[in-house]
Amino acid sequence: MTMNIRRFLKSLSGIEGRSLAVLLAIAIAALYLDTTLLPAIPAALSWLAIVLALAAAVRWGAGRADAEREGRSTELELAAIAANLEEGLVVYDPSFRIVSLNPAAERIFGVSNKDAAGRTIEPRLAADPRYGPLTQVIFPSLAPSVDELSEANAWPVRVRVVLEHPDLRLSTTLNRVMDERGGTVFFVKLVRDETREQAILASKNEFINTAAHQLRTPLTAINWALENIKKSAEGVSDEIGMTANEALGVSERALKITNDLLDVAKIEDGRFGYQFEDGDLVGFVNDVTSSLLPVAKQYGVAVSFSHDGIPSLPVRIDKSRLGLALFNLIDNAIKYNVKNGTVEIVLARVPDRPFAKVSVKDSGVGIPEDERQKIFKKFHRGTNVTQLEPNGNGLGLFITRNIVKQHGGDIGFESNIDRGSTFWFTVPLETRFIPQKEFVHEDAM
Ligand code: ADP
Repeated sequence: MTMNIRRFLKSLSGIEGRSLAVLLAIAIAALYLDTTLLPAIPAALSWLAIVLALAAAVRWGAGRADAEREGRSTELELAAIAANLEEGLVVYDPSFRIVSLNPAAERIFGVSNKDAAGRTIEPRLAADPRYGPLTQVIFPSLAPSVDELSEANAWPVRVRVVLEHPDLRLSTTLNRVMDERGGTVFFVKLVRDETREQAILASKNEFINTAAHQLRTPLTAINWALENIKKSAEGVSDEIGMTANEALGVSERALKITNDLLDVAKIEDGRFGYQFEDGDLVGFVNDVTSSLLPVAKQYGVAVSFSHDGIPSLPVRIDKSRLGLALFNLIDNAIKYNVKNGTVEIVLARVPDRPFAKVSVKDSGVGIPEDERQKIFKKFHRGTNVTQLEPNGNGLGLFITRNIVKQHGGDIGFESNIDRGSTFWFTVPLETRFIPQKEFVHEDAM
């Protein structure tokens, strides 16, 4: 019985505002009219109604207090998160009035939350020594250098800005807080300070650049000497010829690693230096494919190229760089194949979009499922290929992906372990898709 009353009382906690008032009014009216006037309502029942109504009122009040307490604790939790964020957090309203800066934003912009909160940021403040950096981050077009990292008109908006005085390299993500009707209430800008990372990366790249340049000169000389020894040994000494040939293979590999490292350092510095020119994609793919036929023969792999009957396809590309990208894909398809395997290269138009697609399909070892998201990362080598082909360096796909992206295209693959893989990339048929500025496409897919 007690349990039932308790359960009943509990169920009343759902009663709110108006229903509560009605319940109370009925109970009080019943008491006032007395049982003689309304014999159908015994006094005990009206007392019970009052008790229940009061209990419900108490529970209702307690519920509201709980909700308020909960709201306040969520607020405190959010404030603690914002205060401890490594990234700067700038909140402002649609009229560019600063609502708050967290401590990291205070540090980055050299302005205190106390001073900035309530201030409206206008473009004219871009030259202000105090509010200049904050203004240039709120209006990135005023910064000396801006890179749009996200697609146009897409939220959140990701932009990288490079500021002067002080020298700052900031990567920013802008999001909106909306009301139920879809109106913007606040903008929230997350600011990551990449200045130090960039300085470390630049010094690392400089080191690699210098070391690789220093290595390249003697390696080229060794290659040239070994070629000469090989030639002179022809018909004179098979033993010297074979030894020179083996040594030549090793030194060519060392030269390739050195060149790949130089390419990576240049890509990461955003100065790979593309030279775009008009060309024909059909002829281009055909030339790169033909250049790899001797390698395919050596591995016992049959290579074919088909182009859907398309006679020619005008494109604007950097032939040497895109040639390197396609070379890497076909070379991998040959190397990570099986004896008597096949490599099919197909060129086709992308339906309904001004792009062409080049696919390189092999019948090789495939890519283990748990390694697929690492495939374009620098130095990644599959666990299933290291024995098959010990000589790779894991830089080819990173370079390839960057080249394709810098042409305005996309790259991807499908794979079945032990059955083969298909790597594909697209090339725009309209120049408007080619990025104006060179930038690095990070490791992630
Ligand atoms: P490398 O070939 O020098 O190792 P890449 O960056 O070209 O470097 O490739 C990285 C890794 O991706 C390879 O080591 C291999 O594990 C995997 N891979 C690339 N292409 C293929 C392919 N066609 N089939 C199977 N695995 C591949």
